[in-house]
Amino acid sequence: MAEKVKIAVNWAGACGGCDVSILDIEGKLLDLAAVADVVYWPVAMDFKRKDLESYGRGEIDVGVFNGCIRTSEHEEDAKMLRERCRVLVAFGACAAFGGIPGLGNLFSAAEILDRVYSETPSTENPEKLRPLTATPINGHSLQLPEFRESVKALPSVVEVDYIVPGCPPTMERVLDVVHAIIGFAQDGVLPPKGTVFASDKALCDSCDRVQTRTGARMSQIRRPHELIADPNVCFLEQGIICLGIATRGGCGGPCIKVNMPCRGCFGPTAAMLDPAAEALSAIGSIASRDHEDDIPANERLAPIRAIVDVAGTFYRFTLPAAAIPGTLKHVSKG
Ligand code: SF4
Repeated sequence: MAEKVKIAVNWAGACGGCDVSILDIEGKLLDLAAVADVVYWPVAMDFKRKDLESYGRGEIDVGVFNGCIRTSEHEEDAKMLRERCRVLVAFGACAAFGGIPGLGNLFSAAEILDRVYSETPSTENPEKLRPLTATPINGHSLQLPEFRESVKALPSVVEVDYIVPGCPPTMERVLDVVHAIIGFAQDGVLPPKGTVFASDKALCDSCDRVQTRTGARMSQIRRPHELIADPNVCFLEQGIICLGIATRGGCGGPCIKVNMPCRGCFGPTAAMLDPAAEALSAIGSIASRDHEDDIPANERLAPIRAIVDVAGTFYRFTLPAAAIPGTLKHVSKG
């Protein structure tokens, strides 16, 4: 390409960690700057929405969207970016699957607003005021985005070309995108549409601890703070839920390396319909496995029943993309 690649980065419902992960590539940003111009990145530079609006259909080469869709503004931004960008990247777990904000889907929008604006111990709001989408001030109308009924992942709102999973994406996965953009600048070729910039195998496949899994029954489930885990033994062997069994690899196992179990931020592999259902099924089968102690059938699932916060444990990053998200309001929140 004779001209530099044009990149637009947009932040929707997210914590900002995805934007920081882009900065984490440090000196490689200079390699990117040699072939690409950032034409929109309001969280990092002084861009306004009108800067994005000034581009026509397909005039930006690469759109990078992080964060979930929770408000009307997020949805407008997603559609605006989609229209103006030749390729659109769902960057990070919130954009790809809904992420941690997606756990809000266990509650209605009204329940969330009640909690935030009335019920928290530090809130004083006797008039039960709530945010309005339009407030008249001095003859003008002050507009606020509408808080939507549920969180959506980006692919359920607009067509997405690539996914970069992670909360946030690791440096290696960010570099995958940078290298793809550099390759595009040099020879005009992009990775195949639908590429997920990560492994297509479960994390267990690359975990050093997998050899220590014996297939023994998981008789008790323990939370990470209840013990100091053996750093050389599979978490499942120690009764600790680890979602490496149902999570796409490619993160390099940073959590496992600091002796914390996988929480699933890379989402499912292509072969999995629903990562939480896969994980629950696998752990259920380990917990209920026949054992020489001849445990009665009705007691075998007792460890599963004792799990605290089932939805938050298994759907921490993926609830809006779950196979049956609409029914999950009935799953235990406790
Ligand atoms: Fe490693 Fe977790 Fe898989 Fe065990 S379950 S092998 S600790 S990723």
